[in-house]
Order: sequence, then structure tokens, then C-alpha cells
Amino acid sequence: MAVCETCGNTYDNAFTLTRGGESHTFDSFECAAHRMAPRCAHCGCMILGHGVESENSTYCCSHCAREAGHPQARDQV
Ligand SMILES: [Zn+2]
Ligand SMILES: [Zn+2]
Repeated sequence: MAVCETCGNTYDNAFTLTRGGESHTFDSFECAAHRMAPRCAHCGCMILGHGVESENSTYCCSHCAREAGHPQARDQV
């Protein structure tokens, strides 16, 4: 049995994600995404795909990157 870090649910099929040497335990992918996924620096939505990286910020799409002042940003294809 393990306890989800996001919602506190106790679940025997919980899984662990490791990033940067730290392990995190979750009961569902939704909870994992909620805690682990980066946020778009422009609109704040969760980035579940590759996103668009510009200098020090990450955006959900090239539109947000351009709105935030990176006119050359392109979606990764
Ligand atoms: Zn959870
Ligand atoms: Zn966005």
C-alpha cells in the first residue's frame, strides 16, 4: 500500500516516478501530472506533451511563447 502525494489516497496499485533522484508516489496518472507536469509560463495550463521551451521558460504551445515575447518560437514537430 502506498499513499498518493497529491491527494492522499491510499492505493495498492500506486506507482512511483523518479525525477532528479527523488521518488514520488501517486495513485493515478492524473495526480502525477498535477504534481509533476510543468506549467505554461503564459496561460498556466499543465504541459503534458513536449511543450515549447524558450530561454528559461516553458510554454504549452508556440502561440503562448509568442504572446509572452518569443516571436521565433515554433512547435516542435
Ligand atoms: Zn492521487
Ligand atoms: Zn499556454
